[in-house]
Amino acid sequence: MDFTQKTTTEELIAFFTEVSTQDNCPSCGHEDFTVCSSSDLGAWTYAQEVLHSNIVTLEYKVYCEKCGYIRSHSAMVVDRWVKLRRESQASAGGAREVKGDNGL
Ligand SMILES: [Zn+2]
Repeated sequence: MDFTQKTTTEELIAFFTEVSTQDNCPSCGHEDFTVCSSSDLGAWTYAQEVLHSNIVTLEYKVYCEKCGYIRSHSAMVVDRWVKLRRESQASAGGAREVKGDNGL
């Protein structure tokens, strides 16, 4: 996995907005979640250690602003989605540049 370009707060929010269909907290029904992130670190990556092994899984988290319910999402899945999104936006940006160069 490529960690050279971390998932940003905006990209993590975009992931939840575009991929997740569950809008309300399953614990209390509240609508607003906060992503665990900061401007200097981007989306915070949590390492979950599997006891008695050398296995570590990476996760992103969001929490309900009303009751504190925490959701975890696999960083592998989110980062893969972010990578494809970046590639899609890069190719779309290139197409717009070509169009502009032609004066259209
Ligand atoms: Zn809640």
